[in-house]
Amino acid sequence: MPQKLVYFFGEGKAEGKAEMKDFLGGKGANLAEMTNLSIPVPAGFTISTEVCTYYYQNNKTFPPGLKEEVEEALKRVERVMGAEFGDPENPLLVSVRSGARVSMPGMMDTVLNLGLNDMTIQGLIKKTKSPRFAYDCYRRFVAMYGDVVMGLKPVSERDIDPFEEILERKKKGKKVTFDTELSADDLKKLVSEFKAAIKERLNKVFPEDPKEQLWGAIGAVFESWDTERAIIYRRLNNIPDHWGTAVNVQSMVYGNMGEDCGTGVAFTRDPATGERMFYGEFLMNAQGEDVVAGIRTPQKIERLKEIIPEAYQQLDSIYKTLEHHYRDMQDIEFTIQNKRLWMLQTRSGKRTGFAAFKIAVDMVEEGLITKEEALLRVEPEQLNQLLRPIFDLKEKKDAVARERLLAKGLNAGPGAASGKVVFNADDAEALTKQGKKVILVRIQTSPEDIRGMNAAEGILTAQGGMTSHAALVARQMGKVCIVGCGDLMIDYKKKEMKIKGRTIREGDYISIDGTTGEVIEGEIKTNPSEVLQVLIHQTLKLEESPTYQIYSKIMSWADELRRLRVRTNADQPDQAQNALAFGAEGIGLCRTEHMFFGGNRIDAVREMILADDEEGRRKALAKLLPMQRQDFIGLFEVMKGLPVTIRTLDPPLHEFLPHTDKEIEELSRVIHVPAEKLKNKVESLHEANPMLGHRGCRLGIVYPEITEIQAQAILEAACIVAKKGIAVHPEIMIPLVGHVNELKLQEGIVRKVAKKVFGEQGISVDYMVGTMIELPRAAITADQIAEVAEFFSFGTNDLTQTVFGLSRDDSGKFLPHYLKEKILRRDPFEAIDREGVGVLMKIGIEKGRSTKRDLKVGICGEHGGEPSSVEFCHEINMNYVSCSPFRVPIARVAAAQAALKERALDKRIGDF
Ligand code: PEP
Ligand code: MG
Repeated sequence: MPQKLVYFFGEGKAEGKAEMKDFLGGKGANLAEMTNLSIPVPAGFTISTEVCTYYYQNNKTFPPGLKEEVEEALKRVERVMGAEFGDPENPLLVSVRSGARVSMPGMMDTVLNLGLNDMTIQGLIKKTKSPRFAYDCYRRFVAMYGDVVMGLKPVSERDIDPFEEILERKKKGKKVTFDTELSADDLKKLVSEFKAAIKERLNKVFPEDPKEQLWGAIGAVFESWDTERAIIYRRLNNIPDHWGTAVNVQSMVYGNMGEDCGTGVAFTRDPATGERMFYGEFLMNAQGEDVVAGIRTPQKIERLKEIIPEAYQQLDSIYKTLEHHYRDMQDIEFTIQNKRLWMLQTRSGKRTGFAAFKIAVDMVEEGLITKEEALLRVEPEQLNQLLRPIFDLKEKKDAVARERLLAKGLNAGPGAASGKVVFNADDAEALTKQGKKVILVRIQTSPEDIRGMNAAEGILTAQGGMTSHAALVARQMGKVCIVGCGDLMIDYKKKEMKIKGRTIREGDYISIDGTTGEVIEGEIKTNPSEVLQVLIHQTLKLEESPTYQIYSKIMSWADELRRLRVRTNADQPDQAQNALAFGAEGIGLCRTEHMFFGGNRIDAVREMILADDEEGRRKALAKLLPMQRQDFIGLFEVMKGLPVTIRTLDPPLHEFLPHTDKEIEELSRVIHVPAEKLKNKVESLHEANPMLGHRGCRLGIVYPEITEIQAQAILEAACIVAKKGIAVHPEIMIPLVGHVNELKLQEGIVRKVAKKVFGEQGISVDYMVGTMIELPRAAITADQIAEVAEFFSFGTNDLTQTVFGLSRDDSGKFLPHYLKEKILRRDPFEAIDREGVGVLMKIGIEKGRSTKRDLKVGICGEHGGEPSSVEFCHEINMNYVSCSPFRVPIARVAAAQAALKERALDKRIGDF
C-alpha cells in the first residue's frame, strides 16, 4: 500500500493538487487545487483511489492505517471549521461523495448532511435558529442514507421510491402540494417515519453514531463503483475498471438555509455552442442536487447579479481565474450560504463536439493555448457533430406555419433528429434494433436510461436544466437533445403525451431541433451540415459559415502536424469527389466488385460466375470490360494524379447470385441458362461462414481471364485519361494473398496485359502492383511477398477475422457477450486488436521492409477511420490509412494527435 491514503484540504492549504487526479480523482484533485489558489472551498479530505482498488482486491476490506488517517484528517477539518463531528452543541456535518479520475455524472453515490442524529439535530437548530431547515436536512439525510448505504430503494423502474411514497402520503395528509409547505413538525415526524420504514423493511436500525454513519457512507461510495449502471457507463466510455473511485469527505455548506442562500452550476463558456460567455443556472434556497436533478427549473446566472451582487462579483472573478489557471473551459459548482460564496467543484466541462472545436480554436486565437494543445483537446469522433444534418429550413418553416410546432425546450445537444416516439429505454433499444429511428421521450432521465439514450436518434425530456443528467449524458454521446420542455404531459402507462391539447402516441413521428430547442410534430427532412454545404454541395459560401471556418482551421493544423497520409475507400467517382472535399489524398481501396451492384451490370457478373468454361466467361467479361473501363476513367479523372489503388475482384460469389426461385427464373431468362442448372450452380457456390472459400485472388488464379480483363480495363482507362493530359497513378492490388506464388501468378498477368495495352495505346503510364495483407500467412511471409509486391495494404477486416478465427458476418451473435464479460475490451472489428492482429501487422511491416526498405504500406480495413487504430498505424510506421469518405476528417485529426503524442513521448525520453 502507498504511504499516504488520505489528503487534507482547507484554509488555503491542500496536500493534493490538480496533477494528482489518478490518486485523488478529478473532484478531489481540483478541490485541492482550488484551495491552493485561495478560492473559498469548505474544508475536507480525499481518500485515495488506491483505497478503492485495495478494497476490491482484498475482499472488500479497508487497508491498515486508513482509520487513523481519516480520524486525523477529520480532526483538522473540525479545527478549521470550528465544529466537532457528533457534538450535540456545535456539530460538524459533512458530505461524502465519489470522484473518479474522469467524471461519471450521476453514476455513483453521494450522501449529504452526514453527522446528523437525534442529538446533533439540536445543535443544528441552535446554530441556524431554524428548526424547519434543520429537520429538512435531517429527513433528506435519513432518506439518502437509507437508500444509498442501507439499500432501501425501488426494486424496478416502475416502483415508487419508498421514501418518496411516505413523503407523498404526508403531503396528501396535510393537503399540501410542495415539500416547502410542510412544517418543522411534519418534517420531524417524517424522520421517525423514514427510520421506522428502514427498520420494518430491512430489519436494520438507522445508525445514530456519526462515525458509524461515516464509515457506512465511505463503503457505499466504493460499492457504487461496481453497480451495473457504473459498469455500463465505463464500458460505453472506455474507462478501465481498475481505476476505482476516490471518496471526498467535505464539510457541508448550505444553499437552502434561507433566502440569502442558493446553489448553482455554471460553465465558463456555453457548453452547447462554445460561445465565450458565463453560462449557468442556480436556484435560491436550494440544496446542490436540486439543480442537477431537474426537479425545479433553475434561473439564469445573470439574475444572481441582481439578487446577491457581492456573490456574483466574486463568482465572476473566480470563474475567470479558474479558466485562466486551467486553460480550459470549466464546469463549476457553487453554494451561497448567508451571502457567502463557496466553491464545491471545478472540472474541465463536458461539451458538445461543436463547442469543443469552437472553444479549441477560440482559445488558440485568445493566446490561451497552442495549436498543438487545441488538437489534443478535441476528440476526432466529435467531428461527426460538425458534419451532422440540420433540418431542411423550408420544410421546418412550413411545419411551423402549419402549427406543427408543439413546444420549446432547452437546446441541450445541437443537431436535427426525426423519429418515432418511445417512452422508455427498453423500447428505444428494441425499435432501434429493428432499424427504426426513435426519439426517446422521458419526464427526466436517470442513469438507467443510458442504453436507450445511446440507441435513440434524439432525447427529449419534460424536466431539468442544461446541466441535468439527460443534458450532460446526451451532450457527451453527441446526441440531439432537448431538456426542460415543461409543456409535455407524459403518461408512461398509456404511452402517450399531451402537449397543449394535442396527443402524441408511441410510434408517432416527431422532430427535434437540438440547436433551437424546438419540438415539432411529424417528420421533417434533414439537410447536411454547414460544412457539407460548403465543401460538398457548394450551396454555402465559406465566408458565410463560421462552423466551416472552425472546421477548416482545425483541419489545416492537423495537416501541418500529421505524418500519416489519409486516403479513402471509394468505388464511385462521386464518393471519391466527396472524399477529396474532406481532404483525402488518394484512394486506398476501390473494391471493383462494388462497381457491379448498380443497374443491370449484375447480370453480366452473374453470367461470368455461372459460365461453364473459359469461352463463356470471356463472353461475359467482354460485356463488363467497357463498363469497368468507364468506371476507372471516372475515378482517375476525379483523382487528378493522386494514387488510386484498385483491387482486382474479391467477391464472396454467393452474394452476387440469386437466391429465391423467382430470382433464379428471372436470371435464367436473361442469360439463357436453364433454371434447374442455375439452381445447382448457386447451391454449389454457396459459402458457409466465414467466407474463406473461392474468394480473392483464388478466383483470378482459377480463372486468369478475370484478372486479365480487369487489368486491361484499368490500364486502358489510365492510358485514355493520361492522353487527356491528366496524371494517373494506378496501383493494382491483389486481394487475399497467402502465398507469394499466388501474387507472382497474378502479377505476371497484370504485367503481360500492361505491355500489350501500352503497345496498343501508344503510351505508357506509371503503375504499381501490390497486395493486400489480410491473411496471417501473408503477414508472416511478408518478406517473400515483398519480393514481388510494390506496396502492401492491410485488410484488417479479413485479418481480424482470420486471426481470431471468427466471422465478420455473424460475430454479432456472441461478440456483445464477450464485451459484456470483459473477455475483450473492444470489438476487434471496430478498433484494432493490438496484441493479436496488431502484432501480425508489425511483423508484416518489418518483414516487408526487410526486403524492400521503402515499401509503401497502408491500411484499408474499416479500422482506417477509427482514431485509436489510426494512432496504432502511426506508431507502426505506416504510410497511410484509408477510410470511408466521411471519416477522412476524423482520420486526419487522429493522425495529427498520434504525431503529437509521439512528439511528447520523444521529448520525455529526451529529457530523461
Ligand atoms: C479487409 O479485409 O480489411 C478489406 C479491406 O477487404 P474487404 O473488407 O473488402 O474484405
Ligand atoms: Mg478483405
